[in-house]
Amino acid sequence: MGLQPVSKLAIVPASARLIVVSNRLPLTLRKTDDGWKTEPSSGGLASAMNPLLRKDGGDWIGWAGVAGEQDQESRRTVLEEWAEKDRRFAVELPDDVAKGFYEGYANQTLWPVFHNFPSQLKFVSKAWEAYVEANRIFSQAVAEHYKQNDLIWVHDYHLMLLPQMLREQLPDAAIGFFLHIPFPSSEIFPVLPRREEVLEGLLGADLLAFQTHGYLQQFRAALLRVLGMESKIEQVAVGSRPVRLEALPIGIAPEEYTNLLKSDRTTAEQYAEWVARYKGRKVLLAVDRLDYTKGVLERLRAYAHLLRSSPELKEKVVLIQIAVPTREGIDTYQELRTEVNRLVGEINGKLGTPEWTPLVYINRSIDRTELVGLYKLADVCWVGSLRDGMNLVAKEYVTCKPEGDGVLVLSEFAGAAAEMGEALLINPFDEERTAATIERALALDEQERRLRMTTLHNRVLRNNVFRWGERFLASLREAVAERGRFIDTQPQRLRPTEVRDAYARGSRRLLILDYDGTLVPFAKRPQQAAPPPVILDTLSALASDPQNCVALMSGRSAENLDRWFGSVRGLWLAAEHGAELKASFISTWEPLRSQVPAEWKNTVMPILEHFVDRTPGSFVEEKKYALVWHYRMAEPEFGEWLANELVSMLEAMLAETELRAFRGEKIVEVKPVWANKGEVLNRLLVTWADLDFIFAAGDDRTDEDLFERLRSDAWTVHIGPGPTRASYVVADFERLRQVLKLFAESGSARKVS
Ligand code: UDP
Repeated sequence: MGLQPVSKLAIVPASARLIVVSNRLPLTLRKTDDGWKTEPSSGGLASAMNPLLRKDGGDWIGWAGVAGEQDQESRRTVLEEWAEKDRRFAVELPDDVAKGFYEGYANQTLWPVFHNFPSQLKFVSKAWEAYVEANRIFSQAVAEHYKQNDLIWVHDYHLMLLPQMLREQLPDAAIGFFLHIPFPSSEIFPVLPRREEVLEGLLGADLLAFQTHGYLQQFRAALLRVLGMESKIEQVAVGSRPVRLEALPIGIAPEEYTNLLKSDRTTAEQYAEWVARYKGRKVLLAVDRLDYTKGVLERLRAYAHLLRSSPELKEKVVLIQIAVPTREGIDTYQELRTEVNRLVGEINGKLGTPEWTPLVYINRSIDRTELVGLYKLADVCWVGSLRDGMNLVAKEYVTCKPEGDGVLVLSEFAGAAAEMGEALLINPFDEERTAATIERALALDEQERRLRMTTLHNRVLRNNVFRWGERFLASLREAVAERGRFIDTQPQRLRPTEVRDAYARGSRRLLILDYDGTLVPFAKRPQQAAPPPVILDTLSALASDPQNCVALMSGRSAENLDRWFGSVRGLWLAAEHGAELKASFISTWEPLRSQVPAEWKNTVMPILEHFVDRTPGSFVEEKKYALVWHYRMAEPEFGEWLANELVSMLEAMLAETELRAFRGEKIVEVKPVWANKGEVLNRLLVTWADLDFIFAAGDDRTDEDLFERLRSDAWTVHIGPGPTRASYVVADFERLRQVLKLFAESGSARKVS
């Protein structure tokens, strides 16, 4: 594929081919005595994506479910058929890679961390290597399959390195990623071994979508904390490339269930049989993979609690628990299975009667024709996940209740809870209250039951998987289009003669300059960064020109600025990022707002001091309006890491106050939100109007407030690399000094002539 300039690819044709990439294909290979057989895959991802692709077409690349080293010939025949007939393309993984990748890093490292179970985490670097290798094999397969304008849609936690690997091979490709599982909180995510690589892998995508807003926010918090990357709610910039962020809760294909309900014979016969069998009893239904995140043990304990505490339910209720075997090669799962078996025996043995088995335990996968019948039958569906990306069972159940005759009891820790508020929500860790909620569900009066259920039913029908798929693909197209616009809004390199000419043409000019990092390089200690004579001369020349208003806006204290710049006549000074201002024509400082009470410092100071204790080489600077933690002399990586932690902590603490914590160049500063350079600009504009040349230069985040407020024809200049809203960039402070020198010279040249 020939590389095109990115902006030319801005619009992806609506007819573009879709390539879905997921760990498993919706088809699984199984070895039987008669050779290889094809079976449908189970699980939420296959349930969701299958109907979508059946409707709109598309190719699917994934693993066939068994490693590819045995029986090559007969396997190949089946896999070729998948490719030709179904456009399902199998990726072959060597045995050891498949095991390390799937049972290792994916399911014993990522899965527990992402589901808030760090205690279950197991990590060996060999498994990580297998994960990298499997992602690499996938990227090879996708790159070979790819044609220009295809849309690549990568799914889930098995393939989190794939977006970046694909980006390297196919720089212009449209790459979207959807995470089906939760994203953990910023307290837990850093526990993940190889966390940086995982985040960087994801950031190769054009679009990253999550099941809920909560997960999206946690992802942003992880970016800040682990990579020090700031992001907007809908976007993060990776160099000059935007990555779009979205919350898109997955849905189901309702007709797949309602059609069976309406007209399938097996469903109808099974249903009739069950109605007869469970006559006179209320049916509770639970459908899970036998995974520790699904809360099966917790449910069984709560059920036992219910039966013991409410003897009137004896012989009046039955719990049908479907527990689909999963990941049986992993010890934790085997241990869970043993414990569940024990508890099932105990409940039926101790609480049952000759006429009544309180718990029907089915430890296998059942067919959808049967499952739909159970959904129809069940008076209560009990979803008790301790943590779950979405939980499709909840949505399938309400789909099968068009008349509203059922109750959904739903864990508040399932992603589904974010959009299914009419369910009875439970904390599955609280056995007693869960049991009470089940009791309430069984007794809910008809009107309330129908109202809750029909509302849920209609919403699930509306927010179905087709709508989800359309929204994802539309969003991916927009994300690709955004690339072009993003590049257009990226700053250009400042051409000194061009800006000098514009300066010379001006007759009423405003020049706003930052100090540290802009006019002088950073020093190890703030007091070492005194201005050299050349800077004082240039500033004097510029400030003495009656056609100029020159303002130096710095994070430094008023006293510091007075000491260094007091001798420069005609210069405006703003201290502490604009908390105080000294006009060129008076000799006193004026605060921008009346003084804020300083008690907050007593609360924040101990926290900063704690960070000083933990970080050799760092120190706290106290200013009139701000406290600053400096870590320029600390070990760089450690300093960055702690700075991220400090900001995350302070952000939460200061949320309701007028104080904010900001990251600057090797500093974290806590200051009032109004003390910013944008505010000072407003003051300057009152005194100094009718401007025909505006020039503002700065290097850190505090300057962005200013750039944002300046009118569009202003020359806004960012010093050094990094994201900025400025229109221009220069490489370093020396380049900027040259430009200022040109200004000063052009002024004196005119005076002479
Ligand atoms: N499922 C099934 N047969 C079973 C049990 C479950 O087909 O015996 C399906 C169920 O209908 C649902 C999926 O498996 O579509 C489970 O998805 P969910 O999001 O609830 O959990 P996951 O397994 O993806 O964690």
